[in-house]
Amino acid sequence: MTSPISREIIDDEDIDLTFVDAIVRAGADRIRTCIQCGTCSSVCPSGRRTAFRTRELIRKALLGLKEEVLSSPDLWLCATCLTCLERCPRQIKVTDAIIIMRNMAVEEGYMLPQHKKASQKLIKTGHAVPLDDANREMRRELGLSEIPPTTHSSEEALEQVQEIMRRTHFIELIEKTGECK
Ligand code: SF4
Ligand code: SF4
Repeated sequence: MTSPISREIIDDEDIDLTFVDAIVRAGADRIRTCIQCGTCSSVCPSGRRTAFRTRELIRKALLGLKEEVLSSPDLWLCATCLTCLERCPRQIKVTDAIIIMRNMAVEEGYMLPQHKKASQKLIKTGHAVPLDDANREMRRELGLSEIPPTTHSSEEALEQVQEIMRRTHFIELIEKTGECK
């Protein structure tokens, strides 16, 4: 987890002032009006259980600390519950801003190992969650076929799903992603 900005010395070369422009262009158009009131942090259910601080993330984005924000695992701690978006006195689309930054992070090659693993499973099987023995057993108990009528049982369906992932560059994206610091 990162420490509060006030305790850090920010190097000029770490600042990218085009970062916030890109966030604004992508839809979080009021982000510059943030008054650092902290309401978003105080209502955040994720912040109650982790060191994630929404206000700090927004502040760092406004300071242009692109690399630090995009490479931080904190970016992935938001549960996208929208509470901060509903409560922000400046009506900033906080959740949208976080999703925008997540998209940027993946484009830049950053992704949590867990997400990468789930994505690799999706590419390989058409499902992010594997069909393990427990799932098979549960299906049997419910009177369902052990293997669902999805990409698990249809080679053709799997090829179609993989083709969609290829055409949308999802496979390319996952192959190039590294991991958060
Ligand atoms: S609630 Fe809104 S104005 Fe207040 S710190 Fe969060 S984003 Fe900024
Ligand atoms: S949307 Fe994310 S940052 Fe906002 S309150 Fe919910 S978990 Fe926290």
